[in-house]
Amino acid sequence: MVKNWFHVDQLDSSTYRIHEPYYWQANNEYLLIGTERALLFDSGPGRRDILPIVRGLTDLPLLVLASHSHYDHIGNHRRLKQLAEARILSADIPATKSMTIAQEICPPLTARLSLLPRPFMVDEWLPRGGSIDLGNRSVEMIELPGHTSDSVGIIDRSQGFVFVGDFIYNGARKSEATFLLGALPTSDAVDYLRSSRRLREIRDGARILGGHCDAEVDPRRLDDLVAALENAMSSDARRSLLPFSVVNSGGTSLVVSSRQIRTASNGHQSR
Ligand SMILES: [Zn+2]
Repeated sequence: MVKNWFHVDQLDSSTYRIHEPYYWQANNEYLLIGTERALLFDSGPGRRDILPIVRGLTDLPLLVLASHSHYDHIGNHRRLKQLAEARILSADIPATKSMTIAQEICPPLTARLSLLPRPFMVDEWLPRGGSIDLGNRSVEMIELPGHTSDSVGIIDRSQGFVFVGDFIYNGARKSEATFLLGALPTSDAVDYLRSSRRLREIRDGARILGGHCDAEVDPRRLDDLVAALENAMSSDARRSLLPFSVVNSGGTSLVVSSRQIRTASNGHQSR
């Protein structure tokens, strides 16, 4: 049994990264504390109970929002609701509503990518462009479809952070290329490009924090991601006979569906 499963880093006076270095995907969860409420962005794979770590940092009522429904980001949702009466938030968008039965999100296997079912009840549906009031700290939810159709991020303009889940993150070692996944069920290369451009515009000097490995993402990686996707739409990737292509730019590699790239670039040419 690993003794210190969670590592906590303080990012500023009221923001923490909760890291799981011994989990094979080295997940990051983020705790944003206001004067009235605290928000946990992603609850982790659920291999360990994250509640004692959260309660070691704040006693405030807890809100929980996942960046997306892959199993390693929603693993503590049920536990937090049962043990801490956490309010579970979700984006009110078709990608999440299509997985919902009577206020319970039941991600299918293709959305959660794990054999274990991980349903969780939603207490509050956040409207598009909605903000979350933590008391003297208001953060915005942004839609970031690409890695999955239900991906969202958090922009915290007052404290200068953008939390992006699996939209972009660092490789296992700093020297390694970032290897991103854009060819999973519900991934979409066209959305990925659109969201990347949008994120680049709104980042506005804020620190970008990812869902795995070293937390802080060099903003140049976002330029790389845009360039990789732009290249994909206009180059050899669309002639690939393999179902998947890897598109690269700088230190960023992205796996995309060859069919999606072909369809998107054909559409582009015929316009
Ligand atoms: Zn993911």
